[in-house]
Amino acid sequence: MSWLWPRLLTALLALLGASLLGGLVGYVASGTPWRAALAGAALVSLALVVRDAWRAHRLMQWLRGTQEGPAPRGRRFWGEVGYRVERALRLRERALEQERERLAQFLSAIEASPNGVMLLDSRDQIEWCNSVAADHLGLDPVRDLRQRVTNLVRAPAFVAHLQGGQFGEPLVIPSPRGDASLSIGVRPYGDGLKLVLTQDITERERNDAMRRDFVANVSHEIRTPLTVLAGFVETMASLPLTEAERQRVLVLMQQQTDRMQSLVADLLTLAQLEGSPRPPPDHWVPLASLLQRVQADALSLSAGRHQLEFHQEEEALVELAGNESELFSAIANLVNNAVRYTPAGGRVETVWRARAGGGGELEVRDNGIGIAKEHLPRLTERFYRVDGSRSRDTGGTGLGLSIVKHVAQRHGGELDVRSELGKGSSFRLVLPPARVRREPQVAALATG
Ligand code: ADP
Repeated sequence: MSWLWPRLLTALLALLGASLLGGLVGYVASGTPWRAALAGAALVSLALVVRDAWRAHRLMQWLRGTQEGPAPRGRRFWGEVGYRVERALRLRERALEQERERLAQFLSAIEASPNGVMLLDSRDQIEWCNSVAADHLGLDPVRDLRQRVTNLVRAPAFVAHLQGGQFGEPLVIPSPRGDASLSIGVRPYGDGLKLVLTQDITERERNDAMRRDFVANVSHEIRTPLTVLAGFVETMASLPLTEAERQRVLVLMQQQTDRMQSLVADLLTLAQLEGSPRPPPDHWVPLASLLQRVQADALSLSAGRHQLEFHQEEEALVELAGNESELFSAIANLVNNAVRYTPAGGRVETVWRARAGGGGELEVRDNGIGIAKEHLPRLTERFYRVDGSRSRDTGGTGLGLSIVKHVAQRHGGELDVRSELGKGSSFRLVLPPARVRREPQVAALATG
């Protein structure tokens, strides 16, 4: 109220002054001061009213406009009114600006989410959606705003889910483009509003299917030898067998238990590969000792039926960084496969060579039965076999190459396969520079 009293006082003083001046002029001019005093007071009042109206008009003009420039400033009362109105407006504008920025940040955070987010009003019209939701549902995040989502996404299951009002479980539907599986969750909020969350679960579904297939395959692989074993046990228990028959049955039973043992061993290796941390990058294993062990295995598997060759193309003493038993298992699988899939009289060559840039590769080459082109992309899948009976007859589990691929990847490398049906195959285990080191002096000493 600091403005009120000075303002009243000024108006009173102006009125008083004008009345006195008018009275004095009236008295001097006609000897009657009252009429002139009244006229003076009325003139001053009029002037005050006009001045106020003019200043109020200027402020009103500014308020009606864009309020970009400063508010009209006068002295005292109107100056203060202009200042306070402008300050209140500027504060409100700043608060609004901050709100807008916060909302933009919030929306860009949702935009960055790997999941789709869509807001629907009470009539299921799209209020907002991020680009992931738009991509999942085949929408345009700008053009389709304010459109009813059920007019745009017409999958009957989606429409029924949204209209059914039972949002406990997420809905799984194929994406409108048909190239993915979507999980759609709806969360009601506010007054009939809905938050729709979409997620691409294609990968998850594929993994689930792979897990189911894996369990089914393992069960099948175990059930077959078990059934055979059970048959033999029954035969031995119920039939009187000659010693020769008994020996024959025991050999067959031994084959089946060996088969189950290899399967369980490979399954355990796979489980260990998947569940353990990456092999250490600083534990060095001499390549020569690995190859010696693999060679011993291959010689006994081949039993003189093949020509087996092992050699190193570079002079240095090579060491590989990683897990010794994993590396052994990978190389042994490749060499044993080459022996198993190469008819008697064939040749299996295992060669280590340096690669440009510091890494190295171990190639296992054979001139065996080879593999038709269409099988190559699937060879490293678990239990994938080109010829199931041949694999089983030679003691295969169908897991060897998936173990090799895993080991290669865990050591930062890869498995490269080339093959031609009827001509032979080449499997190359490629290792990066960080996993290979050479000691030329030691090699020189060893050879010197
Ligand atoms: P398996 O235990 O059946 O040998 P793998 O995973 O080791 O399983 O190999 C998968 C399939 O790849 C084999 O069943 C076989 O058909 C084919 N394969 C692997 N190595 C060779 C090879 N050197 N020559 C021809 N076929 C091969």
